[in-house]
Amino acid sequence: MSAALVTGASRGIGRGIALALAGAGFDVVVNYASNLAAAEDTAADIEKLGARAALVRADVGDAEDRARLVQEAHDAFGGLDLLVNNAGVAPNVRADLLEATEESFDRLVGINLKGPYFLTQQVALRMIDAGVRGKIVTISSMSAYTASVNRGDYCVTKAGLGMMTKLFAARLAEHGITVFEVRPGIIATDMTGAVKEKYDKLILADGITPIRRWGTPEDVGRAVVAVATDLLPFSTGQVIDVDGGFHLR
Ligand code: NDP
Repeated sequence: MSAALVTGASRGIGRGIALALAGAGFDVVVNYASNLAAAEDTAADIEKLGARAALVRADVGDAEDRARLVQEAHDAFGGLDLLVNNAGVAPNVRADLLEATEESFDRLVGINLKGPYFLTQQVALRMIDAGVRGKIVTISSMSAYTASVNRGDYCVTKAGLGMMTKLFAARLAEHGITVFEVRPGIIATDMTGAVKEKYDKLILADGITPIRRWGTPEDVGRAVVAVATDLLPFSTGQVIDVDGGFHLR
C-alpha cells in the first residue's frame, strides 16, 4: 500500500480526494482544522474501502502545526508517497481590491500559499532522504487566472500555487519526485454553498461551465488519482483543469 497525506480532507474536495485515493490503494492521513466529526466520517469511509486512515488535526497556516503534521503523517504508515495540498480558505468577506485589508491577505496567504509551500518543502526533504520517488499534488483554482477584483487576495494565493508547482517540479525532478497542479472549476462544497443560487444560474442557464453541471469532489478526486498513480510517468509541472471547460470561455 502507498501512503498519502491529504490536507483539509474532512469535507468537500479534500474528502473526495481522500476517498478516491483510498479506492486506488492508498492509506490516507486525513488532516483537518477543527471539524473532528467530519474527519471521523471521512476516515470511516476510507476504511470501508479497505484502506487505512489516520487523523491529524493541524492548521496548515501555522508553522508548529505543520511540523507536527508532517511528523505524525510519516509516523502513521511509515512514510509518505504522496502529499495533496488541498486545504484552503476563501475570504470571510469579499472586498473590492481598493478596500481589502492586510488581515484578510495575511490569513489567506498563510493558509492557501505559505502552508502548501512549506509542506511541500518538508515532505519533499523526507522523500529525498528515504529515496521515495513520490508525488506532490496541489489544488489551486480557476481563480489563479480570473481577475476577480472583489477577492483579489484569494486570486493571488491561487496564482502563486501555479508558480510553486513549477518551481518544485523543476527542483525535485532529479530525485524522481513529480509535482502537479490540479485546478478545479466550480465544485459543489460548503465553500460554494453560500452562493449556490447565483452559481446555479451561471452554470445551468448561462453556461459559465460549458459542461452544464456543478463539478463534484469526486471529479477532482479522479484527477488526483490520475496524476498520483503512474499513469503519467514522464510528466511533471503540469496543470490539470477539472472545470467542465470553464477555462475555454
Ligand atoms: P471547504 O470549505 O468545503 O472545505 C475546506 C476543508 O479544508 C475542510 O476539510 C477544512 O477542515 C479544511 N481547512 C480549512 N482551513 C484549514 C486549515 N487552516 N488547516 C487545515 N485544514 C483546513 O472547501 P472546498 O472543499 O470547496 O475547497 C478545497 C480546496 O479547493 C481549497 O483549496 C479551495 O480553494 C479549492 N477550490 C475550491 C473550489 C470550489 O468550487 N469549491 C474551486 C476551486 C478551488 P475543517 O472541516 O476542520 O474545517
